[in-house]
Amino acid sequence: MDTTFRQLVMLRSWFLILTLIGLSASQGWSDPPLASADVTLFKTPYINLGKVSGQLGMKYQLSKDMKEGILSSRWTKVRFKKDSRLLLLNNYKVYLGYAVALYRGKLYISTYDYHKTIKPLLTPQVFTSVPKLKTIVIDPGHGGKNPGCINKNLGMIEKDMTLDLAKRLKRLLESRGYRVFLTRDSDRTVENQNRALFANHVKADLFVCLHFNSVESRSVKGIETYTFTPQNQPSTARSRLIEEDRKLFPANRDNPWSTLAGFYVQRQLIKTMGGVDRGFKRARFSMMIDLQCPGFLVEGGFFSHYEEGRKIKTINHRVRLSEAITNGIVTYHKTLNRIANP
Ligand SMILES: [Zn+2]
Repeated sequence: MDTTFRQLVMLRSWFLILTLIGLSASQGWSDPPLASADVTLFKTPYINLGKVSGQLGMKYQLSKDMKEGILSSRWTKVRFKKDSRLLLLNNYKVYLGYAVALYRGKLYISTYDYHKTIKPLLTPQVFTSVPKLKTIVIDPGHGGKNPGCINKNLGMIEKDMTLDLAKRLKRLLESRGYRVFLTRDSDRTVENQNRALFANHVKADLFVCLHFNSVESRSVKGIETYTFTPQNQPSTARSRLIEEDRKLFPANRDNPWSTLAGFYVQRQLIKTMGGVDRGFKRARFSMMIDLQCPGFLVEGGFFSHYEEGRKIKTINHRVRLSEAITNGIVTYHKTLNRIANP
């Protein structure tokens, strides 16, 4: 057997094993069953990382000081840190809903994180109803009477930059054969909830929100990508669970696919643009709540950072951003095809 063929055979057998695991673990889009929890910590169901590794068919290694757990396979390495919500997936940052916990000499992750983040990223093939990808709605943030963030020195307004980036992204995606719509193609006001409704109306297969960031501090920079926060976990910006976190929203239904698409795009943005990886994060953005297809939101850099702001103002930088987002979406599409046609 030549190496490529052997790899294919291995891939196929892995796929069969993972599919079998998937059939038993698949739980639709409602709450993950708490039966898979090993222990309840901080009122949250947790599962042992060693058990997770067995279910995913990965190796597991716990560091001697018990502060780090590593899941690994031939192509993938996931590092979990005790008391941290941040994991590194092949060195890319992913934020969990709950901190990793050390309990009686073993590391645990919440079952929500296992079902809503780890499985979508590592074994997307376990989820049924794989979506197609033909129609994409791009949502340039803000517009009209909502300018978004402003850099006065550079004379740069977020609503203009998101629209410019959206138009470039539209042309690129169309050249790859996708059918693309914008929620606005001029400087006009669009209510946030109408953005998702528009995507639903044109039966979008993917919703892409484009934004730029700004903060008080002039030293903060980098790119981050968000998808809608799964049920029963807090968004990345806070750690305490609130009543809203218990609710199930329409956008929760496509969590596995939003997670996969969002992570691929964030990874491609960091690969292409370099700079600071601010991670794959979660938030319940109002423009996504009613979404009936997978979606993600890119924060493509900081207006408030001197250098990054100047870069965003250049056409070349925005061209590269649009190329990276396109390539991330194409990788996501290839994965969907691979899962749908094993
Ligand atoms: Zn914005």
